[in-house]
Amino acid sequence: MKAKRRFGQNFLRDQGIARAIVRCINPSPGQTLVEIGPGQGALTGLLLEQAGRLAAIEIDEDLLPVLRQRLEPKGLQLIAQDVLTVNFNSLAHELQASTLRVVGNLPYNISSPVLFHLLAYSHAIEDQTFMLQEEVVDRMVAAPGSKTYGRLSVMLQAKYVMEKCLHVPPESFWPVPKVQSAVVRMQPLPVENPLVKDWQVFGGLVTQAFSSRRKMIRNTLAVYLDRLDLQALGVDARQRPEELSVTQYAGLANQLTDSNVTPLSPC
Ligand code: SAM
Repeated sequence: MKAKRRFGQNFLRDQGIARAIVRCINPSPGQTLVEIGPGQGALTGLLLEQAGRLAAIEIDEDLLPVLRQRLEPKGLQLIAQDVLTVNFNSLAHELQASTLRVVGNLPYNISSPVLFHLLAYSHAIEDQTFMLQEEVVDRMVAAPGSKTYGRLSVMLQAKYVMEKCLHVPPESFWPVPKVQSAVVRMQPLPVENPLVKDWQVFGGLVTQAFSSRRKMIRNTLAVYLDRLDLQALGVDARQRPEELSVTQYAGLANQLTDSNVTPLSPC
């Protein structure tokens, strides 16, 4: 079967790497696993062996018959749908689960949209373990002050504790991609004390702050400055966007929320 570029298909071929990813996930019976993009089942079969059952969301209808034949008898429930249209609250309800463990070797062409889609469901998710482009994983886990720290780092670190688990070389896939890959584990922060009061305001402010990395905060956030108390958060107006911590961004956004300012751009 041909790999379809439009669905970001790079199938995992290396059994050793597949087993290492499953070790990172460490599934047990009784947990409710949801795989995004099972493809030809490289991870699915191994996950089923350990978890006993699993739901998998796959957009490519040509892959479904083989998956059905091979893995439905072993406990696979296939959902033929675009993951970006899946409501994970309803899915948890349908699967009679309080929380879901979401996993997958994500199609690289839609990895950021998938991550942003899942942000809204973090209360229904126990953890997420994904294979992504290594460059994206490095941006996700980057610390303030580093070159890779940016909007993606701030938005995701406000919601998850994240850990890079594994490096995966290009030869582990067919077709061989031009990029390196890595596995990241993401655990939502407790929902009781959210860092951010209004997610849309936070997204707008962070997007605005990083609209120009070379400019100082007093310039990128100029439109908000009269409503912000930078000093209260230990922020110097001459700092560059990559020098502020996630907590400082959350604090600034919360100040805007308390002053009822509409964000410039939605997240
Ligand atoms: N898990 C398999 C593996 O490791 O070999 C396949 C990984 S491949 C990188 C990505 C998979 O996601 C493909 O099976 C592709 O068809 C599927 N996919 C792409 N876009 C999707 C979408 N919007 N919703 C659900 N699945 C999607």
